[in-house]
Amino acid sequence: MERPIQESLSTIPRPNGGLFCNLADLHAHIGTSIPPSVYWHIAQSEGYKLSKRDYHEFVDFVVLDPSHKSTLKEYLDSVYHPILDKLSSGSLALEKGVYETMSGAYRSNNITLLELRGNPMKHNRDGEVDLDHAIMAMLRGMERALLEYPKLHAGLIFCLDRQFSIEKNAIIIDKAIKYHSRGVVGLDFSNYDNGSFHFKDYATLISKARRAGLKITAHSGETDDTNDIWDCVTYVKPNRIGHGIRAAYDKKLMKILHEKNIVLEVCPLSNLMTRAVKDNNELTYILQTFFENKVKITINTDWPEMIKDAHLVKQYEYLEKNNILTKKQIEQTIKWSFQYTFINLKNRHGNLYL
Ligand SMILES: [Zn+2]
Repeated sequence: MERPIQESLSTIPRPNGGLFCNLADLHAHIGTSIPPSVYWHIAQSEGYKLSKRDYHEFVDFVVLDPSHKSTLKEYLDSVYHPILDKLSSGSLALEKGVYETMSGAYRSNNITLLELRGNPMKHNRDGEVDLDHAIMAMLRGMERALLEYPKLHAGLIFCLDRQFSIEKNAIIIDKAIKYHSRGVVGLDFSNYDNGSFHFKDYATLISKARRAGLKITAHSGETDDTNDIWDCVTYVKPNRIGHGIRAAYDKKLMKILHEKNIVLEVCPLSNLMTRAVKDNNELTYILQTFFENKVKITINTDWPEMIKDAHLVKQYEYLEKNNILTKKQIEQTIKWSFQYTFINLKNRHGNLYL
């Protein structure tokens, strides 16, 4: 009988390229997980006209590093949506993008559990591509990776968009329910709010999704205040929260997160590069405060290919090297990732959705 992957956790990531255990990434976006070289290949194959004619100039433009930081809003508006979403649109690009991302995560970082998220309506060229074709392309990319790497478990999370109408987001929810048995494991709320979004409006739709077996997460408390997390917890009762770092400044909220067993998907380097967190001191304060208040956290990449040195192994090395988390705490976060995944690891024969 195949051993549950949680049990194979025997060591923790070592700095300087040493042995690392099975890792899990629960928060990574399709658009920012596809390597720039794959984007370049897609752009050249499709004949897209890019503003950068040279590959290295393109990489410098789309990849963030300590000397090239960007606020979340700036990056979403100038790179993520207009360039990355566009290039990763259409059936061919989506299948290749998801396949390359998932197989690459296993090969380079020993990620054996990967939840990849994306909004299928952001990858269908504004409706030019049939939505079911776009979704099936994502699923084909995932299936290819699962077939080639039997130790890899993966699932897709569909992102709703805070700037979409409720009607548009309801279509995504229905598609997630429709494809749940094929490996769509959850729903997320993403993008920044342009003033018209309220979690309250989604209570009924999200209950329906939950009854159909989907798990719920939401980007909240990344750059906005904790009122958003309070609303999220009250109205959509998430299993996890994407980022949620602002909760470290709200003791009452941390008590609720602990009591309701809501797990945070923390993405350290992403927060540093978008200035959501000021520096390592603030990051240390936030993460240690969560441990002190018994809030469970997981460590994730968010944008593994669009931030320099942000692969999951590197993120753990960064946290250890800079004394942000202890080895013991790192080990605990990895255990929580396997424990609170949306992917059903029990009662499964193999890793395919059959
Ligand atoms: Zn994210």
